[in-house]
Amino acid sequence: MDRQTRIAIVGAGLAGLTVAGLLQRSGFSVAIYEQTPNFSRIGAGIILGANVAKVLRRLDLEQSLAETGIRPDAFVSRAWDSGDTLYELTFDAACEARFDGPFVNIHRADLHRILQRPLKPGTIRFGHRLAGIDDAPDGVTLSFDNGVKAVADIVIGADGIRSKVRDVILGYEEPRFIGRIAPRAVFPADRLGGLEIRDCTKWWGPDRHVLVYYMTPRRDEIYVMAAVPADRWDGDGTPIPGSRDDFMSALEGFHPDLLRTAEAATDVTVWPIMDRPRDDRWHAGRIVLMGDACHAVRPFMAAGGSMAIEDAAVLHRCIVEGADPQAAFSRYAGNRIPRVAEVQRISIDNTWMHGPTEVDWFFAYDPCSAPLDAAS
Ligand SMILES: Cc1cc2nc3c(=O)[nH]c(=O)nc-3n(C[C@H](O)[C@H](O)[C@H](O)COP(=O)(O)OP(=O)(O)OC[C@H]3O[C@@H](n4cnc5c(N)ncnc54)[C@H](O)[C@@H]3O)c2cc1C
Repeated sequence: MDRQTRIAIVGAGLAGLTVAGLLQRSGFSVAIYEQTPNFSRIGAGIILGANVAKVLRRLDLEQSLAETGIRPDAFVSRAWDSGDTLYELTFDAACEARFDGPFVNIHRADLHRILQRPLKPGTIRFGHRLAGIDDAPDGVTLSFDNGVKAVADIVIGADGIRSKVRDVILGYEEPRFIGRIAPRAVFPADRLGGLEIRDCTKWWGPDRHVLVYYMTPRRDEIYVMAAVPADRWDGDGTPIPGSRDDFMSALEGFHPDLLRTAEAATDVTVWPIMDRPRDDRWHAGRIVLMGDACHAVRPFMAAGGSMAIEDAAVLHRCIVEGADPQAAFSRYAGNRIPRVAEVQRISIDNTWMHGPTEVDWFFAYDPCSAPLDAAS
């Protein structure tokens, strides 16, 4: 597409920041409109595989990623009560060579900071909450709650699970609460009092699970996240303060190794787990969706953010090579939907790495060079 194309991205999350960096590298003029006045340090970690590292490599950020986060020695699945190891995927040099990249666990705020680094100053317009879009022949006009209007040739909706851009294309629809909540906590590792834990462990219970991992190479910060049943969620998608006692009661019967770790979590925050049923309408006219805006998945494969970053790589390629927005967007959607649908299916099943799992198709994939079909 013509490098004079004005590109507006709504949302400076993982998808928006990544696609902005790639498009600027290719010479496009890009503005990101972000509702928050500035970024705060949300207490949560994220797991990323070599499929994501390969995208950050194209932005010269792979080394920062691998040095800021931890390259865990393995992903270990353990039975909730006996503590038996159900599966272990070892991330040694041979594994990194096979996947062509590292596996990294990192604090989300650190990842966010890294993804902003390649952007030209002023790319992100903070305090701009999208209110509406008007797709007219001479350009797409975006209106924001602060009264500002902006005109662009194409609009990328990267505004998350409650996407306003999605509402414009598909109409308003509440995300689906899946009957699980996620109590989470971040705390310093010295609270473990010498207890030795593995770098990254998922504890599998009959109707709940807990993920525990370090987020830094110094192994000084730990992230614990559980998924436990809940009848209802009365709030919106915003997390609420939780209670440590409720958290510990939800883990009754779990193995002592996990309980000793969980006991160190004093400040617990509770998040609702939400997703959306699959919907393959990802674009209309000059407007296209990416990330959670078009395929919010439940976090049980730890892959929603990875899919958002992969989307960025493929959308970037389709925009660079596309003759016009329609051709670019339908090629992007056609190439992404089958892979994302598989991730969505596995996330609903919650079976990923519970036992021996074929993982190469996921981690060895390179969204920056994988062959793309011509059209949807
Ligand atoms: C408990 C939990 C654990 C998870 N763990 C993992 C994991 O380990 N690995 C992984 O890959 N994924 C994980 N995920 C999924 C991952 O967090 C999401 O899939 C990912 O953040 C989606 O990125 P995004 O850029 O599409 O949206 P977001 O990161 O949600 O970004 C959207 C951005 O748009 C902005 N925005 C929203 N509305 C507007 C508006 N109207 N105007 C302007 N700006 C707006 C928001 O402020 C935000 O900055 C997890 C999710 C949950 C809930």
